Amino acid sequence: MKCPFCGYLNDKVIDSRPSKGGVAIRRRRACLNCQKRFTTYEQIEDIMPVVVKRDSRRESFDRLKIIAGIRKAAEKRPISSEKIESLVDEIENKLMEKSLKEIHSTEIGEMVSSYLRNLDDVAYVRFASVYRQFKDIGAFMDEVKKLMSRKN
Ligand SMILES: [Zn+2]
Repeated sequence: MKCPFCGYLNDKVIDSRPSKGGVAIRRRRACLNCQKRFTTYEQIEDIMPVVVKRDSRRESFDRLKIIAGIRKAAEKRPISSEKIESLVDEIENKLMEKSLKEIHSTEIGEMVSSYLRNLDDVAYVRFASVYRQFKDIGAFMDEVKKLMSRKN
C-alpha cells in the first residue's frame, strides 16, 4: 500500500479488524519509511477466496448468499438473525485465517452445516439436503438416521 505521506511502497499492518458489518476489513498501517500511520479499507471480495462451484465455475464469495441459504433452512426455527450473522462471521474469519486463493462451494457447505448441526437439527437437515443434493430419499433418510442415533 502506497504511503499517502511520502509515497513509499512498504508498510506494516499494525491492526486489522472487520468493519462496516463485516463487508470490509479496516487496517491500520505504519509506513516503513516515514513511520506515519494511515488506515486502509479492503473489501471482503479482495480477501476472501474465490468460490469454485460444482460445475467448476468461479464466483466471488457472497456473504448474503450464504445468509439467504441459512435463513431459508432456518425458516420458522428458533434461530435469530443475529445468530445467523454471527455464524457467517465465524465462517468468514475461518476462511480469512486460511488465506486460500480458492475454496470449493461444498467445503463452505460443510462448514455451514457443521455449525447448524450444533444449533438446530431441522435447519441442519434442510440445509444439508440442499447443498449435498441428496440423490434420492434413501440418502436423505440415512442422514436423518445418523442424526437420530446421535441423540440416543
Ligand atoms: Zn511514508
